Amino acid sequence: MQAPAHPSHLPRPVMPQCPPQHMLEGQKALVTGGGSGIGRAIALALGQAGADVIVNYVSGAETAEQVATEIRAFGVRAMPICADVSDEDQVRAMFRQAIEAFGTIDILVNNAGLQQDAAFEDMSLAQWNKVIGVNLTGQFLCAREAVREFKRRGVKPEVSCAAGKILCISSVHEVIPWAGHVNYAASKGGVMLMMKSLAQEVAPYRIRVNSICPGAIRTPINMEAWGTPEAYQELLKLIPYKRIGEPDEIGRAAVWLASDYADYVHGISLFVDGGMTLYPGFETGG
Ligand code: NAP
Repeated sequence: MQAPAHPSHLPRPVMPQCPPQHMLEGQKALVTGGGSGIGRAIALALGQAGADVIVNYVSGAETAEQVATEIRAFGVRAMPICADVSDEDQVRAMFRQAIEAFGTIDILVNNAGLQQDAAFEDMSLAQWNKVIGVNLTGQFLCAREAVREFKRRGVKPEVSCAAGKILCISSVHEVIPWAGHVNYAASKGGVMLMMKSLAQEVAPYRIRVNSICPGAIRTPINMEAWGTPEAYQELLKLIPYKRIGEPDEIGRAAVWLASDYADYVHGISLFVDGGMTLYPGFETGG
């Protein structure tokens, strides 16, 4: 009898179709870096759940427009807006434009992020500043505009129990150190305590703030980790669940976390990582 296939050789499981329709009906969302990868999947999932969506981009105008077109097919509104999230003036202008178009913003997804890797002694100040600027300062600037709008508007019970929701897309590297990526891990560690401190501060205003921490997700940012069979086998050593994650799995988590189904969920880091944070080196007993 043939041995059963090791789980890592099984095809990707068939996933349930994306989130219950209408879960976010009438809500207005802004997704930074919404034109590709995880941001694209979140923007689509929010749109499918009934939200109108601003698709922020900085260089990918065409792909952001494509995502907006796909979102409109769900019968909701979608609009791409160009802004560098690390630039204060551009972020403020983006929120002005978004609020002018949609009336308000109920959900901010702080997703834009990048890597600029280098051995520590070779890392330039420009590489350090770029990654901190987009991944951490960018989340601060967008969250600050969102909080200002949420406080101005307050709770509209017919729309949501909360005055607003902020989802920070962090990473397993907010807790797992990452040699050769010190700027990236520092940015995500910073996101963790920014998110928790902000959550503590704005909770009385019924503003919910949480993070999603993806493990290895199949997007362009980490193609070298899954692009060849050899690299993929190496990657699986880090994932107890023995498969890479797909962007739409983050999309589903985002819909739930942004919805009133998660109304009492506040200040958490939700790890969506196939167990990557479970010290996989110990899976055979250490
Ligand atoms: P990706 O496909 O490379 O997408 C990155 C997005 O960020 C792009 O849409 C890009 O926009 C946008 N962006 C970069 N700099 C920006 C700026 N200055 N202003 C506005 N937008 C900017 O990568 P991804 O994997 O989807 O990453 C999305 C988020 O998930 C990041 O925060 C990343 O750290 C996090 N994450 C990813 C993984 C993973 O395994 N993929 C794991 C953990 C965490 P343009 O296309 O317009 O340039």
